[in-house]
Amino acid sequence: MDIFLHNTKSGKKERFVPIKKGEVSMYNCGPTVYDYVHVGNLRSFIFADLLRRMFEYNKYEVKQVMNITDIGHLVSDGDDGEDKMTKALKRLKKPLTLEAMREVANFYFSKFKKDIKDVNIKIPSEFPFASDNIQEDIDLVSTLTEKGFTYKTSDGIYFDTAKYPDYGKFGNLNTTETPESRIGVNTEKRNFRDFALWKFSGKFNNDLGYDAPFGKGFPGWHIECSAMSVKYLGPEFDVHTGGIDHIPVHHPNEIAQAVCAGYPYAHYWIHNAHLNIASKNDSENGSEKMAKSGENFITLKVLRKKKIDPLALRYVFLGARYSSPIQFSWESLESAEVSLSKLRAKVSELGEKEVDTLEDQKVLVKNYKKKFLESINDDLDTATALALVWDILKNESLGEKDKKKLVMGFDKVLGLKLNKKTKVKKVEIPENIKMLVTERDIARANKDFAKSDELRKEIESLGFEVKDTAEGTVVNPV
Ligand code: AMP
Ligand code: ZN
Repeated sequence: MDIFLHNTKSGKKERFVPIKKGEVSMYNCGPTVYDYVHVGNLRSFIFADLLRRMFEYNKYEVKQVMNITDIGHLVSDGDDGEDKMTKALKRLKKPLTLEAMREVANFYFSKFKKDIKDVNIKIPSEFPFASDNIQEDIDLVSTLTEKGFTYKTSDGIYFDTAKYPDYGKFGNLNTTETPESRIGVNTEKRNFRDFALWKFSGKFNNDLGYDAPFGKGFPGWHIECSAMSVKYLGPEFDVHTGGIDHIPVHHPNEIAQAVCAGYPYAHYWIHNAHLNIASKNDSENGSEKMAKSGENFITLKVLRKKKIDPLALRYVFLGARYSSPIQFSWESLESAEVSLSKLRAKVSELGEKEVDTLEDQKVLVKNYKKKFLESINDDLDTATALALVWDILKNESLGEKDKKKLVMGFDKVLGLKLNKKTKVKKVEIPENIKMLVTERDIARANKDFAKSDELRKEIESLGFEVKDTAEGTVVNPV
């Protein structure tokens, strides 16, 4: 069955055609290891894992590379501000040396590995560290210089975006320079969109750096990803992922570097929307992106302390498509945990009785499998896939053996460990479910049945069902 994915490059949902039959090569922008990852970052990594599992379910062999940024990422995501790793050294009162930097990177990398294990992310084929691939960055900067795409300023080697006429097509960027777009931009830059390929060592990073023919320094954050993806996957590969914050800067820059060096580069660029959180400073309860720098972030450590199953987070993410924003709240996380525990309880009751599906109902099994594949292959529609699991467990025409086989087969993609024994949590109707029900009531009153159906699915994927009775809408845990 065909797979369809929304490609940021074209702005359209496209049929997936692999470069090599039966194989998928995929690069995921990984963590900057200067702190613990937060649950927003985990949305990005769980999304990459779901993509991988979807491809595997479709019998592709997946080569997945996720980089570890342990040098060169400045706090601004651009060319200015402090280096994030140097900032971590100061925070941790460590000596400002490359060795100490690697120690910090190793520490947060080990914590990252524990986190991704706890949310059941499969380990990628490679985890290349930026600091282990400096020569590849130097070679790429040299190639771009030989081809005439760079210029030197007092603080580094820059990419000249004017030399790449396609710059700005990806992400539909406004590349017209105006007095406003120049505000706060290094005056030595020829164009406000130009970006650093290599930054010379300086006061802001305590003169740390690597020797290079063009001067001691360190790679820009973007060059790392172009160099490492090509090293580990080749000059042309299938899929590249990251959060939507990478659409305006990091990914256009990666593409410019790779294409101008002569590489065809990635075919499908797929971006996850953000996990947002209520803004602390906003009395009207606005919401903002969860970010390490925003001091609004929640880590898995906090979930563990509250004795919340980290897989409840995965459940929350499955309830919405990867490209829709999600609002973090403790209520929705707790309600997801309740749903997950109920799902597991239902699964654990199965299979004891070797009841088979009646012969004339066997078509149901086939249909469920087909629907599941259609959902995940339709740009990873995990909410529908999850709702199918609930539907199967409720379906009295299916035998227990088939129910279990179907559900555990689907769990290869969902990754919820549905056969884990878990105590069922006490159920109350949480606020977020009540709100969704109200929204659905309004949609129905307005005869917007498409919306009301979508909301019903969302409610079901969170483990509750709505019934429209003569007395009004009744909501119950499934
Ligand atoms: P970083 O460690 O900041 O380089 O981010 C690692 C990955 O997490 C990147 O792909 C980001 O786009 C993604 N990311 C960062 N914050 C969020 C968020 N709040 N929601 C979803 N993805 C995020
Ligand atoms: Zn990257």
